[in-house]
Amino acid sequence: MAHSLDSLLHEAEIAHGHLCAGQVLGVRMAMLALQNLGISDPRSRLLRDGSLNPDRKRLVTFIEIDRCASDAIGVVTGCRLGKRALKHRDLGKMAATFIDLNAKLEADDYKALRVVALESSKARASDLYPDLDKNAQQMKAYRELPDQELFRYDWVRVSLPESEFPGYRGRRVLCARCGEGVSFDRFIERDGECLCLSCADPSTLYYRPL
Ligand SMILES: [Zn+2]
Ligand SMILES: [Zn+2]
Repeated sequence: MAHSLDSLLHEAEIAHGHLCAGQVLGVRMAMLALQNLGISDPRSRLLRDGSLNPDRKRLVTFIEIDRCASDAIGVVTGCRLGKRALKHRDLGKMAATFIDLNAKLEADDYKALRVVALESSKARASDLYPDLDKNAQQMKAYRELPDQELFRYDWVRVSLPESEFPGYRGRRVLCARCGEGVSFDRFIERDGECLCLSCADPSTLYYRPL
């Protein structure tokens, strides 16, 4: 059974630590996606009649920003980074793509819905509630405005090879240079050696030794 906006916001608030406009937007975004994908509950293991929920583990979600809304999207979809069902692509956009693993197209492509929050929603919120402060304006407006005033959404295809799936068990290799173990095919083979991506191209390292 689909959950209400209020009950999902309550869960999001607990998970995130506070309720904010970003939570409301994230919950609405995920609810919109589930509705369009025909998924009423992506999280429970069992349905009401005791049978297994076929929609659990049906979703992989890519999020394009690491802000409040990202947590809310994780709560509503049940997709988590630690389960490889939540993928972060650091594009700084208030957008997410919800991939339906039941909707395989060809090769490794799956049908997905990409939802982006409209920049105009902030102006709509201040038009509606000019007397409130910004966060309060948005909290209220993002609850009330219809989907089409908050979001644009499009069907897209996303390539998701098996090695990117939740639960994928690939081989683990040791990097020939640094000796660290590497999972999920995050290595390249060069001159007969397996190299982790950092050793293969040190310019990709996000840290430097002190
Ligand atoms: Zn927040
Ligand atoms: Zn290495």
